[in-house]
Amino acid sequence: MVDTDTDGADVCACEQCPALVESRSRIVNGVGPEDAALLFVGEAPGATEDERGEPFVGRSGTVLDDALRDAGLDRSDVRITNCVRCRPPENRDPRAAELDNCASFLDREIGRVDPDLVVTLGKVPGERLLDREVAVTREAGSVVDARIDGQGRRVLVCLHPAATLYDGSQRDAFEEAIATAADLVGVAGGGQSRLEEY
Ligand code: SF4
Repeated sequence: MVDTDTDGADVCACEQCPALVESRSRIVNGVGPEDAALLFVGEAPGATEDERGEPFVGRSGTVLDDALRDAGLDRSDVRITNCVRCRPPENRDPRAAELDNCASFLDREIGRVDPDLVVTLGKVPGERLLDREVAVTREAGSVVDARIDGQGRRVLVCLHPAATLYDGSQRDAFEEAIATAADLVGVAGGGQSRLEEY
């Protein structure tokens, strides 16, 4: 059954993914300013996100918030969203069809926010937005050009914050990538964008 209803960047009603409709408590839309310079894209809501209706509010969210703060940013300064807006059962990865189903919502959100820089948090959003395989550990911190919904975008590849919970040695690379993102768009401390240097 295809049934969608949207309001701006938000999806109000959607039943395109039967398994996710079954497993979700609610649709988890992006949060943060619709004119944010930085847009973070994760994979899918987890249990805490599903419960609270907000992306990255569980343990991974705490890691992200800490890294943002260390980079001179507050969570409210940035836009945060996911590739799919409904929690997969057992926290499994989203299926390709589910990513495809939700792609237009993400594309529309990126177009609406029109960020200076998109930061992909983990392999799934990296591969979805760059449309190629991504070796996320090796490529973390790199800035690449992408075409998203026909528009040229700058994308910074980053680890998923959960990776730092499983492997503490990834923490520095994660924090450095977030600091690079803040530095590049000049939002930390109100500085100037350095994206043209890349
Ligand atoms: S994941 Fe996206 S496309 Fe699938 S049901 Fe939820 S809102 Fe709809």
